[in-house]
Amino acid sequence: METGLRNRAAIVAASSKGIGRATALAFAAEGANLALCARNAEALNQVAEEARRVYGVGVYTATFDVADDEGVRQFADSAHRHFGRIDICVTNAGGPPAKPFAKTTLAEWDSAYHLNLRSIVSFAHAVLPCMQQQRWGRFITITSIAVKQPILELVLSNAVRTGVLGLVRSLATQYGPDNITINNVGPGYTATDRVKELAQTNAQATGRTVADYEAQMVKDIPLRRLAKPEEVADAIVWLASERAAYITGQTILVDGGVYRGL
Ligand code: NAD
Repeated sequence: METGLRNRAAIVAASSKGIGRATALAFAAEGANLALCARNAEALNQVAEEARRVYGVGVYTATFDVADDEGVRQFADSAHRHFGRIDICVTNAGGPPAKPFAKTTLAEWDSAYHLNLRSIVSFAHAVLPCMQQQRWGRFITITSIAVKQPILELVLSNAVRTGVLGLVRSLATQYGPDNITINNVGPGYTATDRVKELAQTNAQATGRTVADYEAQMVKDIPLRRLAKPEEVADAIVWLASERAAYITGQTILVDGGVYRGL
């Protein structure tokens, strides 16, 4: 399948590990140049080095916290100067802590808002004007299956991330006339450090073993296995490709069938 992504410039946020890393490498495999960011320079540089060595693409990197609005703005400006364009922006970040509602603090609510909703607003402010000038753009958010089917122990994620859907739908309407598509990808349980962290927290809270919790998680997935980060990345790359040019305002779940709704 020809994706039409060769020589496009793609921002992939929080791309030193997990789904972000797999997404960066999947874009590189299609010949897209990359602007990558995360907080850990060493891990991020390893991803950049792999993309350059294996796929021969250009890579620009910066280290900062995506909750820092000024950091996002400077990164997008520098990436734009570096490549002369920004065609694709994939927003990503770590997830908020797993805990029952009664144990959450207002500081954690503020932090979840900054990390998982406001950071996306920062990226949208920073890249959409440039995409408008180009009259071509793909803005893709990574959230969670929690936006369609809330997960009991993830109240912060359930509440804050649904705001992203309202943002995605609003931006899709406003920026469609500029030939910019805006979509959201909701991963289900995916084999990364995040899922290990969730398994440990839940096992501790319920007095079960991590192995027990993981077995239950897999039993609830119709495909009976966790997603590979590369499988989530493939959906993101497809949404960014020319093959998905008429899809906007949508949420695509990559969840092995966990979402039971129609
Ligand atoms: P991960 O822990 O493997 O990777 C997270 C990445 O985000 C890392 O590169 C980390 O350095 C970076 N990061 C975290 N906080 C950051 C910040 N403030 N600023 C900059 N970079 C930051 O996690 P993952 O599984 O790849 O998850 C990616 C997103 O998908 C998360 O928001 C997660 O909650 C969500 N998600 C994951 C799963 C899953 O099962 N893995 C399921 C649903 C949703």
